[in-house]
Amino acid sequence: MERQGLDAKVSTNDCKSENVSRKRKLAEHRKSLPVASVESSLMQEVLRNDTLIIVGETGSGKTTQIPQFLFNAGFCRDGKAIGVTQPRRVAAVTVAKRVAEECGVEVGQKVGYSIRFEDVTSSSTRIKYMTDGLLLREALLDPYLSRYSVIIVDEAHERTVNTDVLLGFLKKVQKTRSRSLNDSFNTENMNTNGKLEKGNNGKYVSSLRQHRGRKLHPLKLIIMSASLDARLFSEYFGGAKAFRVQGRQYPVAISYTRKHVLDYTEATLITIFQIHLEESPGDILAFLTGQDEIESIETLAKETIQKLPESKRNLVVIPIYSALPSEQQLRVFAPTPPGVRKVILATNIAETSVTIPGIKYVIDPGFVKARTYDPNKGMESLIVFPTSKAQALQRSGRAGREGPGKCFRQYPEDMFYKLEDSTKPEIKRCNLSNVILQLTALGVDNVTEFDFLEAPPRQAIFKSLEQLILLGAITNDGKLKLSDPVGHQMARIPLDPIYSKALIVASQFNCLEEMLITVSMLSVESIFYHPREKQEEARAKMKCFSSPEGDHLTLINVYRSAVDFLNKKKLELSKEKLEKSLRKWCKENFINSRSLRHARDIHSQIRRHVEQMGLPLNSCGDDMLQFCRCLAGSFFLNVATKQPDGTYRDFSSGEVVQIHPSSVLFRKKPDCFGGIQHWTAPLQKVFGEVISTERSTKFLDSATVSEGYTVD
Ligand code: ADP
Ligand code: MG
Repeated sequence: MERQGLDAKVSTNDCKSENVSRKRKLAEHRKSLPVASVESSLMQEVLRNDTLIIVGETGSGKTTQIPQFLFNAGFCRDGKAIGVTQPRRVAAVTVAKRVAEECGVEVGQKVGYSIRFEDVTSSSTRIKYMTDGLLLREALLDPYLSRYSVIIVDEAHERTVNTDVLLGFLKKVQKTRSRSLNDSFNTENMNTNGKLEKGNNGKYVSSLRQHRGRKLHPLKLIIMSASLDARLFSEYFGGAKAFRVQGRQYPVAISYTRKHVLDYTEATLITIFQIHLEESPGDILAFLTGQDEIESIETLAKETIQKLPESKRNLVVIPIYSALPSEQQLRVFAPTPPGVRKVILATNIAETSVTIPGIKYVIDPGFVKARTYDPNKGMESLIVFPTSKAQALQRSGRAGREGPGKCFRQYPEDMFYKLEDSTKPEIKRCNLSNVILQLTALGVDNVTEFDFLEAPPRQAIFKSLEQLILLGAITNDGKLKLSDPVGHQMARIPLDPIYSKALIVASQFNCLEEMLITVSMLSVESIFYHPREKQEEARAKMKCFSSPEGDHLTLINVYRSAVDFLNKKKLELSKEKLEKSLRKWCKENFINSRSLRHARDIHSQIRRHVEQMGLPLNSCGDDMLQFCRCLAGSFFLNVATKQPDGTYRDFSSGEVVQIHPSSVLFRKKPDCFGGIQHWTAPLQKVFGEVISTERSTKFLDSATVSEGYTVD
């Protein structure tokens, strides 16, 4: 007994000393970062300038340190918060967890994060990491973003559509807030006389303190970027000052392939093992385009490791991509035991958003998956593109952060010179419906005149306006409908406008419960999982859920079967065991348990939204015709009808379309179907009700659709 007690004491002491040494290491690491040496000059610049652009290489400590500097400089007095936006969810989560640890607090307290469908903040949160899209949504409830004293728009060089829109919106808010301050208090201008002094407690005291009690603080804007071109941002913000943080960059030796490679995934796999077997110690970072590619290389790499001689099996494979659960994402930061090399398989989130330490080798196949939009067809898709030169340089730079490194580009050298200089901003190649609805709800009346950093193509704006008019969200002159709350309601639901409209329509069709499940399941990546070696077995299982009434009902069947399973087991199992047995159930039924979990999360979040909005959570029971009517009324923009020659044409654009082979309708060939992505439902019975013979088939007025359905 005594011995045991002693052991326990020793292990508690061990734990304590481990904690102390971890804290010390964290503090040392923080001090060693390039931004640490410029803290006070940087804070002086923030005080002097309303808008500041900070440029610094990846890994210099911008994202993790600068919000902490601002906190220490007094920018969170009076309960104000510092908001830091990220284009990627992964970055918001991992960085918030890291900064919470550096501050010695639980994430969700002083440091928190908020991303779509996950809010880990509290009233005490002062440094809040979030996605740029989330801040735009927050603005719907707080148009002056009055709880923030500073907003940092991080990774601005990524030029995601939300970043671009946010910049335009923040520019407006900043003007309004300083106008309100000048109007009501024509006193000293804190931007020019703001002097930074250290107080008794060693923390900075800023002149912000003098502004206590005022209604609106001036808003400080900080735009951060890893790329060197600050000019565009500076000009946009009226010649805003750019502050450069000198990063460390060691030389990186670049090698190219001699010939074009036919299969870059295979080439990447070979290169991983060449490095592992021939090069000195150091971790490897390989850039791939998406989850599927990463998963298949992960499996192949693990199999190959098993075939190596025992002494060479010291290689661990770690994936990172946005759909990975966040505990697993954090694995990339865990140091490997001595003598073990790690290879990280990442999407371009590891390009600049997430800084992974220890990388000495980079493998760059030269591709990236990105959104494209065809305004003529009104269709958006994810396509694999060659990277730009700027991206290739960013990627290779990742090998030289801690010492000299090597980058293996999986293409011949002449290809590099043919790459575009920089990536086209997303706003020029995506569907703008969501953004336009958001802007309209934020009070921007004429989106074609909005002060964008770079304006999107007018044709894309018009196409999206047309879609929103057809969905009944805005009036013909592009304003949010005052007489009808539908546009406001749609803007508040964090989903694509088509899905938001579907939920609102469903509440009128008595099938909100069914539609809520449908949009949750449609919002996640592949629900069904068909491993190559078990195709037949998987197909047979899928049939158990299949509904002749289409894929949407099939998805509902899967969701409800899972919920039934959970309800049955709920009484006998603990929460942890319950999730484990659900994973087993998913495996047996060839369902992707991660996607299902994600769908359940989305379901509970959206359910909260619709309940708050007062929509009745009703169900149509077995009346599937009612649900199909609702599908037709919701997805009428994506309806296709069979032509005499047996092909299908999209109802509004006239484009030839096909039913996806994975759809339950693939063999049935209905006369008319509708849906979204590759999930389709036969709509001939119900859709026929609303197609009047004289009406042009080019545009279908949404009002007519709903009228058509209410008159049974
Ligand atoms: P920047 O924004 O300039 O690219 P960051 O502030 O993200 O730099 O990162 C600074 C340092 O902190 C890097 O060395 C990075 O490896 C480390 N770091 C960041 N996030 C984590 C994390 N979650 N776990 C461990 N180290 C991290
Ligand atoms: Mg960063």
